[in-house]
Amino acid sequence: QASRQFHPEDTIVDVNGIKIGGKEKIVIIGGPCSVEGQEQISRIAKEVKEAGADMLRGGAYKPRTSPYAFQGLGFAGIMNLEQAKKETGMPIVSELMDSEQLEEFVEHVDIIQIGARNMQNFSLLKAVGKTKKPVLLKRGLANTIEEWIMSAEYILAQGNPNVILCERGIRTFEKYTRNTLDLSVIPIIKEKTHLPIIIDPSHATGDWKLVEAMSLAAVVAGADGLMIEVHDHPECAWSDGAQSVKPKRFKEIIEKCRKAAKIV
Ligand code: PEP
Ligand code: MN
Repeated sequence: QASRQFHPEDTIVDVNGIKIGGKEKIVIIGGPCSVEGQEQISRIAKEVKEAGADMLRGGAYKPRTSPYAFQGLGFAGIMNLEQAKKETGMPIVSELMDSEQLEEFVEHVDIIQIGARNMQNFSLLKAVGKTKKPVLLKRGLANTIEEWIMSAEYILAQGNPNVILCERGIRTFEKYTRNTLDLSVIPIIKEKTHLPIIIDPSHATGDWKLVEAMSLAAVVAGADGLMIEVHDHPECAWSDGAQSVKPKRFKEIIEKCRKAAKIV
């Protein structure tokens, strides 16, 4: 069902009136790695909106490498996001780690993110496939394009057509960057499937200094949007501060990317 062969026209995923996919406009999602409380998310949401973003991201259930690292605020974080949505009007994107929280996400979240580590959690994929919610499916850290498309297929096969793919870098021998951004997936996914694809330059590089260049490259390569980590005090962020850009820089990135999108 993901195949372009049987579905030649681009899928456009409508998120509260904002369209992801098609060629009209790139969609920008910004926000902190983790929700750290109401004040933090409301403050950053306002700045993200003023910078020109379309949607707000924030993790409430966090897939951390260490069990001793901050695991996210859980339901309280989802409530904080919902309040920030009320204040700014921006739809919210958050990661679902377990189908135990599925109902909560269906009720309160606009896009359900399936994280890289859960790309092949087939029961979770089937569960979100049974809803009609837009799903942002990240590519696994060490998964091939074929495997990624098959994971999208799991969601589509259950009857949910609202799948957005997200490349967030893969593991290679290179240690200088956190991951290696595989930009070639953009034209490949466009050729093989009809699904929208966005790029996450933050997790792909692990370094805020590289986010602008990779964002521009992604847009020029045909990405339908970007998801960028933004924090107003990255040095104090509870997770992923090193790859988070400040609101002022985020605004510059958005302006440049929207210009670049018009040229190509
Ligand atoms: C995230 O978006 O904060 C995240 C954990 O991403 P990934 O699953 O790509 O590592
Ligand atoms: Mn993160």
